[in-house]
Amino acid sequence: HFTAMVIRDHEGKPKAGFEELTLADLPDNDVLVEISHSSLNYKDGLAVSGKGRIARRLPMVAGIDLAGTVVESRAPDWGPGDRVVVNGWGLSETEWGGYSRFQRLKPGQLTRLPAGFTAEEAMAIGTAGYTAALCVLALEDWGVIRPRAGEVLVTGAAGGVGTVAIALLAARGYAVTAATGRPEQHDFLAGLGATGFVDRADLATPGKMLQAERWSGAVDTVGSTTLANVLAQTVYGGAVAACGLAGGADLPASVMPHILRGVALLGVDSVMAPQEKRRRAWDFLDAHLDRAKLASLTTTAPFSDLPELARRIVAGETRGRTVIVLK
Ligand code: NAP
Repeated sequence: HFTAMVIRDHEGKPKAGFEELTLADLPDNDVLVEISHSSLNYKDGLAVSGKGRIARRLPMVAGIDLAGTVVESRAPDWGPGDRVVVNGWGLSETEWGGYSRFQRLKPGQLTRLPAGFTAEEAMAIGTAGYTAALCVLALEDWGVIRPRAGEVLVTGAAGGVGTVAIALLAARGYAVTAATGRPEQHDFLAGLGATGFVDRADLATPGKMLQAERWSGAVDTVGSTTLANVLAQTVYGGAVAACGLAGGADLPASVMPHILRGVALLGVDSVMAPQEKRRRAWDFLDAHLDRAKLASLTTTAPFSDLPELARRIVAGETRGRTVIVLK
């Protein structure tokens, strides 16, 4: 027997709770992984707290991330002892996920853990951090290249995506400005490499279609009016990598920044990103993410704390990244 966080239908609503499972309960996929660590992302908070409908079939084991070691494999590419990480791929939505001591996964869902990371560090990064890497790569691929670049803005700065994005952008030599609603986190964010600060409330009220040009690039985790303002403040030829909706899923914006300043809105998805893109992001993290900064933005918690942590991340009360220890 082992413990898992299972979502079941409860009078028409999804409800999550700890349950004891056996290997026979797991789906009949080719690779059995012993999971040592998972993590907490915004989406996990929604799923476990019941605040959002994430699971598309029930019962569902929650957890969009996992890191661990292959125990058994019917797939030629994987064998016992291989160290793996899984992010997204529909885990917690249509595929059973990482909040479980063991899981059976499809071979195509596994990414080899770079030798430079422990399983715990991989989950300190998790989907949020790997998405931050996808965002920075999207900006660089677009051509937001130091040292020509001016300031780069990160919204939702004290969150999981935001903190890793700040650390990565600073390591790449950009001047990073952090938009946060928590001024008490300025010193912490400065320690990660932020040199400027914006009050998130200033970005949350509707503004003009075109505003003073300020950002060479931006990583936006908030969406809605915030993203509209960030686009309106982006310099001629700049780009915004949008990955989140912590402030809302709408986008009350105009085409003006795009058609008059050539500003690009780069959509970033981590869930169904192909393996090649994932490997590139993990290699980028391996090469550029300062491990001491990663440790400073990470909180480690036992599995039993998950329900309370889920409530807190949805309420915007967690900081940086949270690792969930399963072993
Ligand atoms: P998180 O740790 O909760 O961080 C979100 C941050 O956004 C919070 O720390 C807070 O930052 C800010 N925030 C929260 N509520 C807000 C509001 N109402 N208005 C403005 N800002 C608000 O979450 P995360 O795991 O980093 O994820 C961030 C977002 O990215 C989520 O929407 C998530 O779903 C999305 N995401 C998408 C992908 C993808 O594949 N596209 C992957 C990962 C995450 P401050 O306290 O600093 O203000």
